[in-house]
Amino acid sequence: MPYTFDKLLFGPSGVPHSSPKPDTIAGIKRVAELGLDCMELAFVQRVSMGPEKAAKVKALSEELGIRLTVHAPYYINLNSPEPEKIEASKVRMLQAARVGYACGAESICIHAAFYMKAAPEVVYQKVKEGFTEVTEILKKEDVKVWMRPEVMGKLTQFGTVTETVRLSTEVPGVLPLVDFAHLHARSIGEYNTYDEFCQVLQEMKDGLGQEALERLHLHVSGIEYGPKGEKKHLILEESDYNYKDLMRALKDYKCKGFVICESPNQEDDAMLMKQTYEAL
Ligand SMILES: [Zn+2]
Repeated sequence: MPYTFDKLLFGPSGVPHSSPKPDTIAGIKRVAELGLDCMELAFVQRVSMGPEKAAKVKALSEELGIRLTVHAPYYINLNSPEPEKIEASKVRMLQAARVGYACGAESICIHAAFYMKAAPEVVYQKVKEGFTEVTEILKKEDVKVWMRPEVMGKLTQFGTVTETVRLSTEVPGVLPLVDFAHLHARSIGEYNTYDEFCQVLQEMKDGLGQEALERLHLHVSGIEYGPKGEKKHLILEESDYNYKDLMRALKDYKCKGFVICESPNQEDDAMLMKQTYEAL
């Protein structure tokens, strides 16, 4: 994939709330006005954008220097017991990648699977099969996007740091999407100190090299959690999330790439993190 970064980029998940219209074009303009750097196109219900609109999104984002990522639909489960649901999952991954690429997006976030009470290794192999097939098709079509299995927040969901790093070493075109809030929720309160953040970045560096840290795609927000992990996303300052030390760890590991904010006040918290990071 040809994409490189000269720094960390901060932006909201989806169109900012303060956008005058809930539309991608207006959203990108608003991100630029706010002085943010990037935006995630939230194709979370379905991928509905046509080619003309996608071309407009691409032209505007290039003009304004706002880089884009995509969140693929939630309805993906590469470990479904029903074969037709696995096929539908792959189709959704392909659609998100193709339309995202037409928009100029570089990186696609995917909720890969649920364990469905199966052994993690069995699930891993099914996820690997799905990602292998999808990335081979995208390569043939010259769709240049990173496909990113997300580190998930619920214990029923496939996606630990170790699983996503391993998949990235075994399938070309794949890199992890580390959701630091999910990690905090999944571990029921851990991963909230400088040392623990460094441990995650070190695991990525050991498995995938410094290059992976220089093309990150992260999700960060406050989060509420219980014994089963994630409950809901929160505003950073209304949560226990130690984003200040996360920013410090990202700086110390010379990280670059996308930091997408999924707080309920996404653009405000994206700005808070950007300012905190830049003041270091
Ligand atoms: Zn997600």
